[in-house]
Amino acid sequence: MKCPYCSSEQTRVIDSRPDAQGNVRRRRECESCERRFSTLERAILTTPLVIKRDGRREEFDAHKLISGLRIACARRPISAEALERIVERVEYAIRQTGRAEVPSHVIGDIVIDELRQLDEVAYIRYAIVYLGLSDLEAIRNEIERLRSGRH
Ligand SMILES: [Zn+2]
Repeated sequence: MKCPYCSSEQTRVIDSRPDAQGNVRRRRECESCERRFSTLERAILTTPLVIKRDGRREEFDAHKLISGLRIACARRPISAEALERIVERVEYAIRQTGRAEVPSHVIGDIVIDELRQLDEVAYIRYAIVYLGLSDLEAIRNEIERLRSGRH
């Protein structure tokens, strides 16, 4: 840890204690200029990279996700706030995995679950575009499954 006064790298810890938020606060002293300063060490929850189906990695993109949701939910009685909550839940869920990377289908699965509860039309639209329900047979089966209530 560099001294913030003289930029010396020779500093030593003279005290270390956790604070009320669970962070670690350290008191340090510079061995060059002998001034004291504090550091705060805290855990950062990072958002994992998303592994695409073709193996490429990309940053989790909340804007892209919400655009996809808006298309799926066009002209459906779903508020913008409900879509934002889905995106928040997705981001929270992938952070909670504690992993550096998550496959894109993990995100797709969460979105699908959320939309299924929210609006069946939006759910089917999303499934067609993002889960590759590209043939009519698969779409029909999915609709039948919804109708029969076997979720
Ligand atoms: Zn110093």
